[in-house]
Amino acid sequence: MTDCLFCKIATKQIPSSIVYEDEELLAFKDIHPAAPVHLLVIPKLHVATLSECNETHVALLGKMLALAPRLAKEHGCEVSYDADGKPGGGYKTLINSGPDGGQEVYHLHLHMYGGPRPWPGQ
Ligand code: C5P
Repeated sequence: MTDCLFCKIATKQIPSSIVYEDEELLAFKDIHPAAPVHLLVIPKLHVATLSECNETHVALLGKMLALAPRLAKEHGCEVSYDADGKPGGGYKTLINSGPDGGQEVYHLHLHMYGGPRPWPGQ
């Protein structure tokens, strides 16, 4: 889509702090971080919103979500367990969909929040 901000980020017409890239996905630091770690994972393909997704997007959505643990590890917020098996660390993943869901940019994106709280919704 020619006038989409995140398409322009995906094609590097607009600069961003990229933390991951492959043929299908890009992850970058949110320009207005709402948590110490605030990353966005986007598909390079223009999909306006989760509401437009269907069975044909299952693999893409799965890839987006499956990237979170890797990014968490790289940014120091993975879930870990102490000697008693008690979990520590962690992060939040979020997709805003439509106006009532708080979506501002109409190119599908997965928020990832981590680091010392508070984060949105906590
Ligand atoms: O889910 P929602 O659409 O509200 O989130 C859009 C996100 O995109 C915001 O967190 C905003 O800070 C981020 N953004 C960005 N770089 C831009 C424009 C918006 O990281 N150039």
